[in-house]
Amino acid sequence: MSPTPSDSVPKDTKSPMRILIADDDPVIRRLIQRVLRDEGYPMLIAKEGNEAWRIYQEERPDLVITDWEMPGMNGIELCKKIRKANEESPLQPFILMLTSRSSTEDLAVGFFEALSNEFIGKPFQRVELLARFRAGAKNMALQLELEEQRRINENLAMTDSLTGLVNRRALMQTLRVDEDRCRRGRQPLGIVMTDVDKFKTINDEFGHNTGDQVLKIVSDCLRACIRVGDHVGRWGGEEFLMVLPNTDIIQAAEIAERCRALLAAQEIRSEDGRLLKISSSFGVASADGIDRPEVMELVNESDKALYWAKEAGRNRVKIYVASADPERRPTTK
Ligand code: GH3
Ligand code: MG
Ligand code: MG
Ligand code: MG
Repeated sequence: MSPTPSDSVPKDTKSPMRILIADDDPVIRRLIQRVLRDEGYPMLIAKEGNEAWRIYQEERPDLVITDWEMPGMNGIELCKKIRKANEESPLQPFILMLTSRSSTEDLAVGFFEALSNEFIGKPFQRVELLARFRAGAKNMALQLELEEQRRINENLAMTDSLTGLVNRRALMQTLRVDEDRCRRGRQPLGIVMTDVDKFKTINDEFGHNTGDQVLKIVSDCLRACIRVGDHVGRWGGEEFLMVLPNTDIIQAAEIAERCRALLAAQEIRSEDGRLLKISSSFGVASADGIDRPEVMELVNESDKALYWAKEAGRNRVKIYVASADPERRPTTK
């Protein structure tokens, strides 16, 4: 089953936890609210099962306290739907069932089929509800914290700390995803590789800090030149890569030229107050049609074109042309 839009929306782990209370008995609803009032979590209230499921999908509460028998949809069905909706998610809401059923069979259904976390028999003790709820809330808070940490780590692993751009590892993923999408949609994919000219000399003359500053400025300029849906990242050292979906070689070369001109126009102040100018060389390649190169081959082609730009005097854009590539020229016997 393909996920519904609400399934695919990642939960914001920073928002405060919320409780959904579902029971058709107004007295019980009020009682639960009173018991949990001082716990400090916002409460969402449903008077029957279908309403509870609707609220769940819209609000994605972290903690659910539900009755078993309710009109519309019963608590077991609700529980199963909630678990199903979170099948792919690392975060599982805490579900506590309140029910007058207490046979071993009922408990087995609730725990093992519906995957409820807790059971409390009706009529319930205030202190029992509070204790079990607190244990669930604590567990949920830990889950959210872990998930937040996992996301931060994932972001760190994908980001270049100096420039804030995505790093080579993230670019590799982007390249595959974008090429796959473009290939299926029969769209071209443009690749631009750029390398700052004589960057070693900048480091040597103006110091490493100024070199770093230059890399940040280059990043900002490249970012400013791309459209929504395009990607730019740090490929390594002073090399950057742009991934441009639905962009043919001419359009990609135009974007590269815009970047080149913008970089060449920068006037940068070195750490010791001197003015310095920079330039960058660009190699452009594109995959088009059905018989297209594999995406890493495409990156290789943009790198070759970049090498041609360096050879031709730097501060320029070169397009990859297969017939100009000695490695590609058909061998004659
Ligand atoms: P070319 O025009 O042929 O590209 O010459 P270049 O000097 O730019 O090329 P080269 O590969 O010789 O030198 C690249 C330099 O980039 C060497 C390396 O120390 C420097 N570098 C790589 N990463 C960083 C960084 O994060 N910060 C700074 N300041 N320098 C870096
Ligand atoms: Mg009921
Ligand atoms: Mg360089
Ligand atoms: Mg280089």
